[in-house]
Amino acid sequence: MTEHEIKIAFKEYNTLQELSTPDYSLCHEAIKAMENSHSPYSKFRVGVALKLQSGKIIYGSNQENVAYPSGLCAERVALFHWGANCPDDPIEAMAVTASTDEFEISQPVTCCGSCLQVMAEYEKKQNKPFEVILFCINGPAWVMNGVDSFLPFMFFENRLVNEAKV
Ligand SMILES: [Zn+2]
Repeated sequence: MTEHEIKIAFKEYNTLQELSTPDYSLCHEAIKAMENSHSPYSKFRVGVALKLQSGKIIYGSNQENVAYPSGLCAERVALFHWGANCPDDPIEAMAVTASTDEFEISQPVTCCGSCLQVMAEYEKKQNKPFEVILFCINGPAWVMNGVDSFLPFMFFENRLVNEAKV
């Protein structure tokens, strides 16, 4: 038997002002993205901003639906927009935030497993890691370089083939 241990690494900044200028600006784009959140059921607004290599910003916000499973997380709204419209313009960074009038959010909101899987696949598709910034409007912010830190055992298409035969 061999015991293994996996460590993940991320940077924590107490306030958004401590971030680099481009990261700070991208956080503000994510805050802006929350304005279009359609969240009448959870009353929990999530905003995402993707910064592409060209400088273009793609916005995403959670889109709920009265038929609950029909809704989609903010992360995938932004990522699928990218995949459908600008897949040749690599993602450099992604900022994610959330707010609600119901209670105070004091820790950055982390992405759900389905969104992480999509992030991982697009990162692999563009063959380049992108920075992920998870943050609260008044801090703190957590910054990860690449999706590996979130999902070390991610599922990839090579698992769909019998590797012994390849
Ligand atoms: Zn999600």
